[in-house]
Amino acid sequence: MLTAVVGINWGDEGKGRIVDLLSEEQDIVVRYQGGNNAGHTVINDKGEFILNLLPSGILRENVVCVMGNGMAIDLKHLHYEIQRLREKGIHVGPDNLKISDRAMVTMPYHVDLDCYEEERLGKNSYGSTRRGIAPVYSDKYAKKGIRTGDLLHETYLQKILPDILAYKNLMIEKAYHKPGASLEDMLDYLHTYGAEFQEYICDTGEYLTAAHRAGKRIMFEAQLGALRDIDFGIYPFTSSSNTIAAYAPIGAGVPGLKLDTVVGIMKAYSTCVGAGPFTVEMDGDEAEALRSAGGEYGAATGRPRRVGAFDVVASKYGITVQGSDKLALTKLDVLSYMKKIPVCVAYSYNGAKIHSFPVGEVLEKATPVLEYLDGWCEDISMCRTFSDLPENAKKYIEFIEEKIGQKMWLISVGAKRDAYFMR
Ligand code: GDP
Ligand code: MG
Repeated sequence: MLTAVVGINWGDEGKGRIVDLLSEEQDIVVRYQGGNNAGHTVINDKGEFILNLLPSGILRENVVCVMGNGMAIDLKHLHYEIQRLREKGIHVGPDNLKISDRAMVTMPYHVDLDCYEEERLGKNSYGSTRRGIAPVYSDKYAKKGIRTGDLLHETYLQKILPDILAYKNLMIEKAYHKPGASLEDMLDYLHTYGAEFQEYICDTGEYLTAAHRAGKRIMFEAQLGALRDIDFGIYPFTSSSNTIAAYAPIGAGVPGLKLDTVVGIMKAYSTCVGAGPFTVEMDGDEAEALRSAGGEYGAATGRPRRVGAFDVVASKYGITVQGSDKLALTKLDVLSYMKKIPVCVAYSYNGAKIHSFPVGEVLEKATPVLEYLDGWCEDISMCRTFSDLPENAKKYIEFIEEKIGQKMWLISVGAKRDAYFMR
C-alpha cells in the first residue's frame, strides 16, 4: 500500500502533523524531495518537534524512515537534527533511518552561494531560506553534484572533487568575489560526515521494493506544496524540486510503483513564505490578527508568514496537480475569532473573472474576488465529529467542498495528535 501525503497550497499546510497522525498505520515513511528548508512541526505525547530533513515518521517506534534520492541533504544539519531528537529520547539509528546513496549532498558552498545570490538580488530576492537548495539542485542538473553514496568511497571523491571545486570556485571567486572553497576542507567535511552516516547510506530503492513486495505500508511525505513545485508552481518563486505526488515514487527510488492513495493537505486559510505572487494576501491589522491566531511564523526560519483568505482557484489547481483522492483540512480552529470569513472564489484580471490558476504576468496582476461567510465565534478545538461543529463552521466546510468539487476526508481542529475528526 503506497500513500502520499502532500500539500495542496504553498506549504505549511500541516503535512508533518498529518503524517505523524497517519503513520500509526504505516511501516515506512519516506521523504522524497527537498532539503532542510522544510519545517514540519509535530506536537504529540513525546513533545514538540520541528523536523527539517527527517521524515515525520521518525517519532514512531514502529516506523522505518527513508530519505530518498530526490532529496538534497545537508549532513551537518542532519547531524544536529538527530542530536536534538536524541536529547528528547527519540531513537535514531541505521535500523530506523535509511539514507539513499543517490541523494544529493548539500555542501557548505551551496549554502554560501544561496546567500551570495540573495544578497546580489537585494530587493528582488526570491526570499530563499538560504539553505543552499537552489544551488545544490542546479548542480544536480549540471552534473556537478556529489551524492551520498560517493562518501563511502574516498578515492572516488578525491578523483571527482577537484574538478567540481574548480568549477564552483570560478563562480564564487570571479562572480561573487568571495573566498573559494578549499579542496582539503571539503574532503575533510565529507570524510567526517561520510564516517558518521556510512551505516545509514544504502540503496533505498532496493529496500523499498523489497518492503513493498513483502506487503509493507509505505507513506511518502512531501515538503512544501503544489504551488512550490518547480514545474507546476509559481515559478520562479518555487522550490527547486518537484513537490507533487507524481514525483514521490521517483524521489523515493521506486519509479516503477504506482501510488494507491494521495492525501492532499490544505489549510482553512492561506499562507505563503517568501516572495512571489500571493493573490489573496491580507495586510495591516487583518493580516496581523490571522497571523497571530494561526501562529504563522516559519518553522525552519522563524519568518512571519504572509497570510490570506482560503483560495478556491489555487486550491482547485493544487488538488488537480496533486491528483489527491483524499483531502484533509487543517487549522479550522484558527478561524474561530473571525466574525466574517473571506473566501476567494475567483480571480479578476483586466475586468474578467478567472477560475483557472494563471501563470506569470496574469498571476502577478490578478486580484481576488471575495465572498464573506458568517463566522462561528466559538472554540471548536474540542469538536471530535462533524456534527459537534457549530452550524456556521459546517457551512464554511460545505461551502469550500462545493467550490472545489470534492468532500473533505479529515478535518483538523488543533495541533495535537488527537485534535481531528473524519468527515
Ligand atoms: P508543514 O510544513 O506542512 O508540516 O506545516 P508546518 O508545521 O510548517 O505548519 C503547520 C503548523 O500548524 C504547525 O505549527 C502545526 O503544529 C500547526 N497545526 C497543524 N494542524 C493544526 C490545526 O488543525 N490547528 C492548529 N491550531 N494548528 C495546527
Ligand atoms: Mg512547514
